[in-house]
Amino acid sequence: MPRPIRASFRLSALRHNLGVARRSAPKSRIWAVVKANAYGHGLVRVARALADAEGYALLDLNEAVRLREAGISKPILLLQGIFQQSDLEPVDRYRLTLVVHDFEQIAMLERARLSAPAAVCLKLNTGLNRLGFSGSQAHAAYRRLQESGRTAAVSLMTHFADADGAAGVAAQMARYTEWTAGLRAEATLANSAAILRYPETHAEWVRPGIMLYGCSPFADESAQALGLQPVMTLASEIIAVQELEAGDRVGYGGTFEAQRPMRVGVVTCGYADGYPRHAPGSNESNAPVVVAGARTRTVGRVSMDMLCVDLSAIPQAGVGSPVILWGDGLSADEVAASAGTISYELLCALAARVPQVEIE
Ligand SMILES: *Cc1c(COP(=O)(O)O)cnc(C)c1O
Repeated sequence: MPRPIRASFRLSALRHNLGVARRSAPKSRIWAVVKANAYGHGLVRVARALADAEGYALLDLNEAVRLREAGISKPILLLQGIFQQSDLEPVDRYRLTLVVHDFEQIAMLERARLSAPAAVCLKLNTGLNRLGFSGSQAHAAYRRLQESGRTAAVSLMTHFADADGAAGVAAQMARYTEWTAGLRAEATLANSAAILRYPETHAEWVRPGIMLYGCSPFADESAQALGLQPVMTLASEIIAVQELEAGDRVGYGGTFEAQRPMRVGVVTCGYADGYPRHAPGSNESNAPVVVAGARTRTVGRVSMDMLCVDLSAIPQAGVGSPVILWGDGLSADEVAASAGTISYELLCALAARVPQVEIE
């Protein structure tokens, strides 16, 4: 018998969330962002479920090839472009769309022998300060790509630093508009947060990621309030129960102390499954968890293969009771916040050892 932990993926929720993105940006085409194994959800599984997207965006050339080999023929955007000259061979063979963010990548294109011109997306650094051309470089880069003879359509792209936060998109939008004046090209600007909050960013293509997986890009607005449905549910079971006396402690370091006699359930799920070790389990703070349909809290430190939960208020729960770590009925956003992180990190960290099932 395998351990009773599993991750289930609701495909109808993926389609539903794609619909939310579509209705939020009705005039735009959609690059479904499927980087990092589709935020931990399974690359090919997600790409197939999101067959209505106009294209897919990801990071890794190998992931792009996997999509092509799975029969996916829609455009695929490589979000960091190429890393070395030899990458252009599979880019050409599999007809991948390239982000170009520096002059070295343009030089590689200029040197390349391609069977057909490549579709490229010129990335501008309007304020995130990771990748992209500056305002003073943008026109020269655009012109070099046009004149290289190696490119078909050249489109434009930027990425927002704080579309989910207080700064918003105004300063970056102003730079983008100024820098691209006179360039006639399609554009892709918006991540999930900008799709949901800033219609002026929508342009020809949008790039939803986290919202497709049913989580909120915002700290101050829940996924449910945004009409999103969770896709991944991480579930397990209670495999042991401990009856504690007042003063007994739980887990490594004894970070939780029973104040009165209480029941604690041991769940087979730990940080080696992807549950965040930093989720607190002290007397002062803890992470939410659902046991036998009732909400309770973690107690004690998360260990590699187990974590503990308070069963005091759930007398009917015992060995074999179902546990939801996140997903159906308990947002990954909430669990992440309790552990001082964001749902993105939890979803991506789902461990390969966790058995996976698909639900229609
Ligand atoms: C990850 C990523 C996205 C998607 O961001 P979300 O916040 O998950 O919607 C969009 N664009 C780029 C360049 C990205 O790296």
